[in-house]
Amino acid sequence: MNTTERSLNFIEHIIEEDLKNGFSKESLRFRFPPEPNGYLHIGHASSICLNFGLGDRYGAPVNLRFDDTNPAKEEQEYVDAIKKDVSWLGFEWDKECYASDYFQQLYDWAIQLIEQGKAYVDSQDAATIAEQKGTPTQKGSNSPFRDRSVSENLQLFREMKAGVHESGAHVLRAKISMGASNMLMRDPIIYRILHKSHHRTGNEWCIYPMYDWTHGESDYLEQVSHSFCTLEFAMHRELYDWFLDQVVEPNKVRPKQREFARRNFSHTVVSKRKLLQLVQEGVVNGWDDPRMPTISGLRRRGYTPESLVNFANTIGIAKRENVVDVSLLDFTLREHLNKVAPRVMGVLRPLKVEITNYPEDQSELLSAENNPEDPAAGFREMPFSRHLFIEQEDFKEEANRKFFRLKLGGEVRLKNGYIIKAESCTKDTEGNVIAVQCTYDPLSKSGSGTEESLRKVKGTLHWVSQQEALEVKVRLYDRLFTDPTPDAHKEADFMDFVNPNSLEEITAYVEPSLASAKEGDHFQFQRMGYFVVDKESQPQALIFNKTTGLRDAWAKLENQD
Ligand code: ATP
Ligand code: MG
Repeated sequence: MNTTERSLNFIEHIIEEDLKNGFSKESLRFRFPPEPNGYLHIGHASSICLNFGLGDRYGAPVNLRFDDTNPAKEEQEYVDAIKKDVSWLGFEWDKECYASDYFQQLYDWAIQLIEQGKAYVDSQDAATIAEQKGTPTQKGSNSPFRDRSVSENLQLFREMKAGVHESGAHVLRAKISMGASNMLMRDPIIYRILHKSHHRTGNEWCIYPMYDWTHGESDYLEQVSHSFCTLEFAMHRELYDWFLDQVVEPNKVRPKQREFARRNFSHTVVSKRKLLQLVQEGVVNGWDDPRMPTISGLRRRGYTPESLVNFANTIGIAKRENVVDVSLLDFTLREHLNKVAPRVMGVLRPLKVEITNYPEDQSELLSAENNPEDPAAGFREMPFSRHLFIEQEDFKEEANRKFFRLKLGGEVRLKNGYIIKAESCTKDTEGNVIAVQCTYDPLSKSGSGTEESLRKVKGTLHWVSQQEALEVKVRLYDRLFTDPTPDAHKEADFMDFVNPNSLEEITAYVEPSLASAKEGDHFQFQRMGYFVVDKESQPQALIFNKTTGLRDAWAKLENQD
C-alpha cells in the first residue's frame, strides 16, 4: 500500500503537527536502533518499516544504529545479520552508527554530571540498591553514598574506568530524587563496571553506560528528530528528557521520544531471548531455521521482502498491544508469489502410473505455460512417457461423485497432457495401492486443437515422467507452537507448547526443468503450494522448503471444527 493512499497514522500525525508548528522538514531524521544481541524478527520488521517508511515519506535520512552497550550479550555475527536483513527488506540507511562510538562522549558528559553534583558513585550491591528503590506507592530511601563529595566521586569514577575495581563493586547513579513518583527517576544507574571484552571496543572500556543514559544522548548526537520506541519505554520518557536537559545546546535539534505498541503474532514468539533459547536448546537448527519468525528464517522459508513489507504496512502501527494473526502474512505472501513464482510440477507422495497403450520406447515433450499471471514468463517443455508419477491422494479405487480426481473407470486430464482413464490397480500385501494402470486418449492432447483436446473432464492432475523426474528432498513445516499465544500463559512456559512435529522431510519427484534451480528460487508446485530452494541444496541433490500452501489450510481446518 502506498502511504499516500491511506490516512495518516498517529506517528505521522505527530510529525505533521511538529511541521505545522514550525519544525523544519530538513531537520527530520529517524533511526532504527537494534541491539545486536540476536537476529531480527518479524516484530522488528514493523519498526523497520515504520522508521524507513517515514524516511521515504518525508525524504529524511534514517540511521541504522546499533545499541551495543552490553558486551555480555552482543556479537559481530548479529551486527552482520541485522545489516543483511535490513538491506534485504529493501531499505538503505544513511549512516551506520554504533552507541559504542559515543562511549568517550558519554563518559565526558558523565564527568560533567558529577562535577555539577548531578551524579554520584554508589558502592552498595545491586540487591541493596533495589531494596532502597521503594515501590510505586512508597518513596525510596537515599543511599548512604548519595552525598559523597564531587572530588571523591570523580576519583572513584576515574578508578572505575581505569579498571581498578571489580565488576559490581560500584555504579554511577544520576542524582535526581528518591521520592519521584516515577520509579525510573529514583537515582537511576547510568554506569556499571563490567570486565568484558566488547565486539567493537575490545578491552578499551570496563565500564559500560546503561540503556537510558545511552539512548537519548545517541539520538541527540546523531541529531535524530523523532525517536520511536515500543510502549514499554513510555515511562522512560521522563528520564530520556531529563538526560537530554543535561546536554542539549541551543540551536540543536532536541530529539523527541514517542511510543507505539509492540507487535505480537499468533503461534510464535518474538523476543530475542526466547528465540535464542530455541536455538541454544536445539529445538530449531539455528536462527535462520525456516520455522523461526526471524527475518532470516522467513527468507529461508521462502517469504519475499515484498510480502513482509506489505504485511507490515497493512497491519500498520498501533497505540495498544494486540496479537496479529500470522495467516495475514501468508495472505500477502501468496498474493506476491502468485505473480512471480513460475509454475512447475512436483509430486510429493508418488504413486506409479503406467499408460498401458503408450508405447514403451516412446516419449515426447509437452509444452507448459510458466506463469499464467505473467505471459512474458513464456513456456517450457515437459517430458511425457508411459511411466509416470501422480500424487497418492489423487487416486482412489472407488469414490463418490464429488471426488474429481482419478478412480477406477474414471477419467482425468493430466495437466498440459492427455486425458487418461484408470483401468486397474496393483496393491501390496497390506492392501495399499502401489500402482495404477491407465489408458490414454491420443487425440486429447492439450492445445492440439482436436475436438478431443477440448473435451471437458472434471479433474486435472499434476504428474511427472518417472524416467526424467529429479529425485529431491522436500521439507514440510508445521507451526512451531501448538498454542496461539505460547508466551502468554502464567502457569506454563512457552517451551511447553513446542510442536514436536513441526518438520517432516520427504523424498519427492519434480520435473527436470528444475535441475538448474538455485538457492532462493521460488516455485509454485502446481496444486501443492509454494516452494523455495534451500541454502543446503546442491545441484545434484536439490532441497526445497515448502513456503506455504495455495490456500490457508489452517483456516479451513479450524472452520471445520
Ligand atoms: P526483543 O525483546 O526481541 O529483544 P527489543 O525491543 O529488545 O526486542 P531491539 O533490538 O532493542 O529489540 O529493537 C530494535 C527496535 O525494534 C526497537 O525500537 C524496538 O522497540 C523495536 N521492536 C522490537 N520488537 C518489536 C515488536 N515485536 N514490534 C514492534 N517493534 C519492535
Ligand atoms: Mg532491547
